[in-house]
Amino acid sequence: MASYRCYYCEHETGSVHLINFFQSRVDREELLCDECYADWIESLKSEP
Ligand SMILES: [Zn+2]
Repeated sequence: MASYRCYYCEHETGSVHLINFFQSRVDREELLCDECYADWIESLKSEP
C-alpha cells in the first residue's frame, strides 16, 4: 500500500487530500493528511 508524506507536517500518511493553491502566481498541488487538511479548510473559511 502506498504511503505519502504530508506537505505541511511531513508525517507519513496512508490517507491524503490533494489540494490546489496559488503561491507566487504558480498553481501548486500538494498532499495533506487528514489533520492538516482540516486546518487548511478552516484557514480558507477565515479569509474574507
Ligand atoms: Zn499533515
